[in-house]
Amino acid sequence: MSTLDQLAERLAAFATVKRDELLSRHTTFGVGGPADLWVTVESPDALAGVAHEATAAGESLFILGSGSNILVADAGIRGVVVDNRARQESTVDEGIFRIGTGASFAGYARKMCRQGWAGLTWAVGIPGTLGGAVVYNAGAYGGCLADVLRSVRLVDNTTGHDRWVDASELGLVYRGSVFTRGALAGQTILEAELALAPGDAAALLEEAAGYDTRRLSAQPRGRNAGSMFKNPPEQPAWKLIDAVGLRGARRGDAAVSEKHSNFFVNHGQARAEDVAWLVGEAERRVFDQFGIRLEREVSFVGDWG
Ligand SMILES: Cc1cc2nc3c(=O)[nH]c(=O)nc-3n(C[C@H](O)[C@H](O)[C@H](O)COP(=O)(O)OP(=O)(O)OC[C@H]3O[C@@H](n4cnc5c(N)ncnc54)[C@H](O)[C@@H]3O)c2cc1C
Repeated sequence: MSTLDQLAERLAAFATVKRDELLSRHTTFGVGGPADLWVTVESPDALAGVAHEATAAGESLFILGSGSNILVADAGIRGVVVDNRARQESTVDEGIFRIGTGASFAGYARKMCRQGWAGLTWAVGIPGTLGGAVVYNAGAYGGCLADVLRSVRLVDNTTGHDRWVDASELGLVYRGSVFTRGALAGQTILEAELALAPGDAAALLEEAAGYDTRRLSAQPRGRNAGSMFKNPPEQPAWKLIDAVGLRGARRGDAAVSEKHSNFFVNHGQARAEDVAWLVGEAERRVFDQFGIRLEREVSFVGDWG
């Protein structure tokens, strides 16, 4: 029996385990090959358990949220991929809420608007889980998670010990954190606490609806992972990509969106390799013409060979 088979047996005691699950089914791009072991967890403690067991067995570990900010290689991801459905919610104190990181961030934001809690109207259209939102300090329309995040519960994958960490220690910046900079590598985010203020539900829902309209008019539909690049200080990334003639460029079923040239889209059966080629072309042309190095917002993950 292989190490992976033995691990699969142990994990099956508290999680759902599948082999060779295609990740194109679990990413908003609709791109990506198989995960060796696909493990679905339903609670923060099960998430901690899987992270620890996989690490102790020497297997590589990837925590997947909604797959809305990643490009997974065509060869997939080796080792264990965790499908995080830890969505438990509770109220800690007046205006202080605790949520499992597998919860839909946009769904939660909309629900809190409906219940008359202010602070998340800008988030109602951001796909992904709360875990992904912490990693990237998700934000839009002048708001970001750092504005409302109080603390997170982390587990050290190696020791299995968990602790609460104050948001001020997470280095939250524009689309980044200690997690994106690798400073807390080997830690999994289990839960988060948000601090929201009382507000008027009708007014909050109206504000959220305004953001919905703005998003619908600016962004393409279909399969994509949102903005491919961070906006450099000099100019928005879409303007630079436009200026180098890549709006609408296509390779196989992968394309630079006609509607918004910082969005790369899958028109059907796009391969990760084709998306990566277009991304590389944008980086090369923008650097050659403007001397600006575009920084990727979308993470390339898995087995790129
Ligand atoms: C149409 C569209 C519009 C978008 N608009 C915006 C926008 O306006 N603003 C914005 O900020 N983003 C936007 N995004 C990007 C994306 O929605 C966010 O980055 C989101 O927060 C990613 O969450 P996720 O759960 O999908 O993360 P995933 O893509 O699943 O994972 C991203 C990374 O986070 C890690 N991760 C996830 N959960 C955990 C955890 N619990 N513990 C440790 N690591 C974890 C993963 O391992 C991976 O490295 C958009 C994306 C799309 C498709």
